[in-house]
Amino acid sequence: LFDYAPAPESRAAAGDIASTYGHFIDGEFVESTGSEALKTIDPSTEEVLAEFAQGTEADVDRAVAAARKAFTSWSALPGAERGKYLFRIARIIQERSRELAVLESIDNGKPIKETRDVDLPLVAAHFFYYAGWADKLEFAGYGSNPRPVGVAAQVIPWNFPLLMLAWKIAPALATGNTVVLKPAETTPLTALRFAEICRQAGLPKGVVNIITGDGRTGAALTAHPEIDKVAFTGSTEVGRAIARTLAGTTKRLSLELGGKAANIVFDDAPIDQAVEGIVDGIFFNQGHVCCAGSRLLVQESVHDDVMDALKRRMSTLRVGDPLDKNTDIGAINSAAQLARIQELTAAGEAEGAERWSPACELPSAGYWFAPTVFSNVSATHRIAREEIFGPVLSVLTFRTPEEAVAKANNTPYGLSAGIWTEKGSRILWMASKLRAGVVWSNTFNKFDPTSPFGGYKESGYGREGGRHGLEAYLDV
Ligand code: NAD
Repeated sequence: LFDYAPAPESRAAAGDIASTYGHFIDGEFVESTGSEALKTIDPSTEEVLAEFAQGTEADVDRAVAAARKAFTSWSALPGAERGKYLFRIARIIQERSRELAVLESIDNGKPIKETRDVDLPLVAAHFFYYAGWADKLEFAGYGSNPRPVGVAAQVIPWNFPLLMLAWKIAPALATGNTVVLKPAETTPLTALRFAEICRQAGLPKGVVNIITGDGRTGAALTAHPEIDKVAFTGSTEVGRAIARTLAGTTKRLSLELGGKAANIVFDDAPIDQAVEGIVDGIFFNQGHVCCAGSRLLVQESVHDDVMDALKRRMSTLRVGDPLDKNTDIGAINSAAQLARIQELTAAGEAEGAERWSPACELPSAGYWFAPTVFSNVSATHRIAREEIFGPVLSVLTFRTPEEAVAKANNTPYGLSAGIWTEKGSRILWMASKLRAGVVWSNTFNKFDPTSPFGGYKESGYGREGGRHGLEAYLDV
């Protein structure tokens, strides 16, 4: 539809992708004790990228034993020494960031513009930030000699594979814990490449172990008796299942779960700027974002103006090849996720909301979904209540700030919210009333390693990032 020159990033920049991968245990790449293998595909073409191991209970045992053994010496290292390893990892990530960005885009489907400019810089920033904490833990607010918790089991989702790994591994290592991390089954490749980086940085064996597989491996890992702490990011449903399993134990647990954020636009907000924030809020990373601004609450008096501007802006979004540097919206990560988005959008139409998408040519192979907005949405509609985790925005209206707060809070989730207004006093009042772990004002989806992130209500508990992110991994 648009006359533009494609600017493809080189696939070869991703480096060599092996045809089969085992786990990374005790500093070595090892074969699984089982014979079951899973496949990871490029969701923009459905081409198989590699096979990888479905981790067995015996694999989990082995990885946890390696982490347990490494804990004794790693936790005894002076913080400054641990910090040096983390600084080294951060620098290698910067040096290899093009390779990692391309690999992430291929395995996940997200645009190279985002992996290059958002994911990878943030991954390095998290390692730098927590490297800096490693020798300053007495200032973290946990007394003069806070202790690491022990061996952490870390299970992460597919939407920001390497960034979620950084959120988990950097604070755990800085505080002297050792880890066994399981990436999601649709995006294992950058975690396995990160294992190489651990070796390149000379990280002592067993401090980081990466074990692949689906939910069965995750369940075996989080339930393992030798694990001291579980950190999980993923769906509320699985988070609940893990909490049930752990209820019979004394393991510590932090949960980063789903969301259904309200992005609230008042009539005094500069419309063009707000529209950029709305678009970024819901179409960034195909809407596969736990804190996505998936509910637009717009003040009734500017509803039509905002909708007109939003539709104009949506018409300029480019959907397609994740490796094209012009692409704004890449591929949906999996057939299962696409089916879920299709089911919920069909429900939106059936319940009477008005659906609109710009004219958009979608590639024939792979998993794609055009940017979509629903107006005339009522608070009882499924598209207003359930997390869609796709490029789909539901628009509701309000008249007063009080009504905006009530509607924004009318959700079982509480991860994030956005406020667009020129009035500073209103921002502060709204922020104090919104039940959301993160409140952005006049911006959206901005992240920084110094800032704690996490939810209220069914979005989970515990914080990652910032000084507060150390808490999950320390005992006073
Ligand atoms: P998911 O819960 O299906 O899977 C997440 C991870 O858990 C995967 O690695 C999976 O293999 C593993 N897993 C599945 N069943 C398990 C079990 N019984 N025990 C242990 N591990 C198990 O979620 P998903 O589809 O990969 O990710 C999407 C969800 O993640 C969304 O709901 C999104 O909001 C949420 N998310 C939250 C945050 C946050 O910070 N709050 C960030 C990213 C994603």
